[in-house]
Amino acid sequence: MAYDWLKGIKDHYDVVVIGSGLGGLTGANALAKCGHSVLLLEHHYQLGGLATWFTRKGGHIFDISLHGFPFGMVKSIRKYWSQDIADSIVQLKGVRFINPQFQVDTTFDREDFTRLLIERFGIAPATVERFFTDLRAMNFYDNNTETTGEMIARYFPGRDDVMRFLMEPIAYANGSTLDDPAITFGIVFSNFMSKGVYTFRGGSDVLIKRMADELKKNGVELRKHVAVEKVLTEETGGQRRVTGVVANGRTICCEAVLSNANIKNTVLQLAGEENFTPDFIAQAKAVRINSSSCQVYLGIRKGETLPHIGDLVFTSDAPRFSSEELVGLHTRSRTFSLYYPDTRPGSERYTIVVSLNATYADWKTMSEEQYQTEKARLIEESLASLERFIPGVRGKIDWMEAATPRTIEYYTRHWNGTSFGTKFEGLKVSMDLPSQLPGLHHAGSVGIIMSGWLGTINYGIIVANQIDKFLLQKKRTAA
Ligand SMILES: Cc1cc2nc3c(=O)[nH]c(=O)nc-3n(C[C@H](O)[C@H](O)[C@H](O)COP(=O)(O)OP(=O)(O)OC[C@H]3O[C@@H](n4cnc5c(N)ncnc54)[C@H](O)[C@@H]3O)c2cc1C
Repeated sequence: MAYDWLKGIKDHYDVVVIGSGLGGLTGANALAKCGHSVLLLEHHYQLGGLATWFTRKGGHIFDISLHGFPFGMVKSIRKYWSQDIADSIVQLKGVRFINPQFQVDTTFDREDFTRLLIERFGIAPATVERFFTDLRAMNFYDNNTETTGEMIARYFPGRDDVMRFLMEPIAYANGSTLDDPAITFGIVFSNFMSKGVYTFRGGSDVLIKRMADELKKNGVELRKHVAVEKVLTEETGGQRRVTGVVANGRTICCEAVLSNANIKNTVLQLAGEENFTPDFIAQAKAVRINSSSCQVYLGIRKGETLPHIGDLVFTSDAPRFSSEELVGLHTRSRTFSLYYPDTRPGSERYTIVVSLNATYADWKTMSEEQYQTEKARLIEESLASLERFIPGVRGKIDWMEAATPRTIEYYTRHWNGTSFGTKFEGLKVSMDLPSQLPGLHHAGSVGIIMSGWLGTINYGIIVANQIDKFLLQKKRTAA
């Protein structure tokens, strides 16, 4: 008989959280701390969503999305998780760009970018100052219709080298393009520029384990290997509302659901069209999914070492930056994340993760044979590129494999295997969800701004506060 992954759970919870990405974990923790009973269900055998890791023969541990986040994580983690977890956040100082237009090393903060824009790119100091100050003042509620491309061109006309310098890392960080609203670039870029790029010392495995410990301490019931199939609703007094979920074939009742699944999965599959107005369904269907990713994982044999060539190395052989080139099947742009022994102190191990942005449709339609051929090509091209910076590295590698948008779809169930949620319009659908169906809330990568480790953690808190208010109101009405 199959193991019952729901064994011992209660029939009713205040909140069921669907998914254990950083948005789901953080929302669950905040709700439990408010005194609500919380059940978190994750279909994968591991917690963390995209903030996860895997192990391989030879003692390798590979991180999937631990490449870099803004300093704001220190405050969010301290406030919503613990001082202890926040204390392991450290700066990555070695960021490099290597492409046909320029080669620079930077600490990726405002001071260093100012220096480089003036000295390396020859921009007038007053222009640089105005750019940073205006960007910092950008506000989500401004009615600004400018695109990122238009905005950068306004400050640096005719300078596609500067465009590349500013845009390339952000495109890797959240899948945004030059055609996305300028606010999406402004908020994320300013977050990074405030103090540089940070990482979690210890690796994703240690981070997620500490979060799981915290959740258990706060009373959250955590279950893995459990897929939620349906959000249940009923109509009372002319109003539809959430009553529970069906997961692994079992009904669990609840007052509210926090879905950390993709917003399109949440509306169109988990809840279903019948629960919303036709206008809202049209909006949900019109939401564009953000791009996806490929990665190549390279494990360095135990006992071998690597020279320090930087922590994050943005490389490209494309003559100029292009949002289309970056997501193409044959993109020549890739980022190398180098994990030295201090990532996991005491391990003495090195790994390299190569990240490429990608388009789901390119990979989805491939035959199995072509899929294997294309993955082998990705690995070979990444190795050839890496050998230019670390001669002889091939001989030190004893594990290599590739992941694609199909891998992301398989492990997270995200619509079109997206790595970064949806384009900007997805945020409105996510925020309007509870007004359409009381009790159903969504937190997770959406709208570009609420994406990445920091964005999803902060969004998890915003939505948990809304659910807390909703539950208190319900309790008051029932009393
Ligand atoms: C290759 C890559 C590199 C990245 N690099 C960075 C980086 O360097 N810095 C950064 O800040 N961000 C990075 N990101 C983005 C970042 O990882 C994500 O934005 C963030 O982790 C997403 O969190 P989330 O809360 O949206 O949930 P997700 O991580 O998307 O997790 C959602 C969870 O819900 C679960 N789920 C879905 N449907 C169901 C269901 N029906 N039942 C049960 N469970 C379900 C999934 O299995 C998954 O665990 C990267 C992403 C990728 C793919």
